[in-house]
Amino acid sequence: MTMTEELITTAVSDLPVYIPVRAPRLRLQRLAFGLSVVVPAIGAVAAPIVSWRVGFSWVEPVTFLGMLVITGLGIEAGYHRLFAHGSWKTTRSIRVLMAIAGNMGVQGPVLYWVAHHRLHHPNSDGALDPHSPHHHPDGAFAGFVHSHVGWFFSANRASPGRFVRDLLNDRTIVAVNRLNPAWLLLSVALPAAVGGLGTWSLQGALVGFLWGGLTMGMVLSIPLLLFGIVLIAIALSRPPLNAAQAVQ
Ligand SMILES: [Zn+2]
Repeated sequence: MTMTEELITTAVSDLPVYIPVRAPRLRLQRLAFGLSVVVPAIGAVAAPIVSWRVGFSWVEPVTFLGMLVITGLGIEAGYHRLFAHGSWKTTRSIRVLMAIAGNMGVQGPVLYWVAHHRLHHPNSDGALDPHSPHHHPDGAFAGFVHSHVGWFFSANRASPGRFVRDLLNDRTIVAVNRLNPAWLLLSVALPAAVGGLGTWSLQGALVGFLWGGLTMGMVLSIPLLLFGIVLIAIALSRPPLNAAQAVQ
């Protein structure tokens, strides 16, 4: 049995698959997800306008690409391969850095992300898949919206006790998970600091904030846009994967 299969198999237990998110936490979660969609979009429009007015410099590419590397590694190498699938092993400090970098990727705290990914894999496009376009009671279009962004706002979430018990036993990762708002703040403060200190100007800080922080956040939503296109293709053609295929 591979590590991935083992982690997903150990997710089988008596605990429920989904647990309800109760108010006021639900309101807070919906507000946070709503802001994480809208604010980066506004920043991505403002960034080229500001740079056009003040003149382009090294700050745009350095902050933008730097944050792309940090958050891209955090999500793909960290959240996905290291934490969700256990595909590689590393030291405690690298695990912490990967969890922090993933949190900076504006895709939710590490336990939330991993729980949903482990639930998704063996149930891809099935009734339990948290973001399947199928199975929506209000039809195909409602299913499409749900699978694209609607599931972020769901009143249910994958049970951490069932899907991420290994990570719940890691107190450092649980602490990093709790500090998610601080890492989101860091994801905009770090490029602002690089731009501001590198040019010793508020203007540089603003450009770093807009390009490395908000525009980068918008780019991290592009997989969601691509995901939407893929979902249209799935809705139009492919039969659902079976569990063995989905695990691969
Ligand atoms: Zn995966």
